[in-house]
Amino acid sequence: MQEKLEAFITEFVRCYNEKSEARSNWEEPIFAYADAMDPLFNGLKTVIGEYHKLPEDIMKDAKTVISYFIPLSKAIADSNVPGYFSSEAWVYGYFETIDLINGINNGLKKLFELDGWMLSVTADHRSWDPLTMKCDWSHRHAAFIAGLGTFGINRGLITAKGVSGRIATLVTDAFIKPTPRPTEEFCLYKRNGSCGLCLAKCPVSALDVPDFYDNKKCMALTYENADKFKAIGFADVCAKCMTGVPCATKKPD
Ligand code: SF4
Ligand code: SF4
Repeated sequence: MQEKLEAFITEFVRCYNEKSEARSNWEEPIFAYADAMDPLFNGLKTVIGEYHKLPEDIMKDAKTVISYFIPLSKAIADSNVPGYFSSEAWVYGYFETIDLINGINNGLKKLFELDGWMLSVTADHRSWDPLTMKCDWSHRHAAFIAGLGTFGINRGLITAKGVSGRIATLVTDAFIKPTPRPTEEFCLYKRNGSCGLCLAKCPVSALDVPDFYDNKKCMALTYENADKFKAIGFADVCAKCMTGVPCATKKPD
């Protein structure tokens, strides 16, 4: 199924770029796969919380966790660099990428079912509870386990195509060979102590090293953006620490 699913998603994104009414544009997606029984999934109960689900909680006979990353175009990433607030293009990119992923996942489910496999969407991209600040499935962490990238000190998962885009994960009972996890840190600060640009870029100083993240400050700014762009929808976004930095649209050299 690996070849089929990668061809399906790549073609879906290409057609969406050409034919949909979306304002946004996307680069080619990338993929990685985890063994559903990888012990790191259990480890997420310690890292994130007991409430975090295992692949088998999503599908009883889960064999593989599929992850993919759809990069937003460099023009959209660059548009978000100046100023305190997110750019309008970034806000549209946020909503339109969710729509794109929903379309892909619906089509993929049918594709798998035609071949006799099951496929479950892991978590809705808006299922994070802002009151408890909890989500019972982390796409970023599942994608890390699958080998899609490594975490930066900006808390994004840096993939071979950077952090400016969106990750999706799904669970299936089809076996797909797991992807080896990267052997080097993609984040320059974690690799050799250099860079750190994302810290300076945060407008509200919500990040610091070695592992400081003030989620209340971060969330407050995302809500300011949500208010500013409320005519478009509830866009609790920011990503100033993920645009205009060496890991924005590619893995840093
Ligand atoms: S901006 Fe630099 S330090 Fe920050 S996550 Fe990216 S590579 Fe790491
Ligand atoms: S998303 Fe924005 S507020 Fe949150 S850490 Fe990054 S730059 Fe700071």
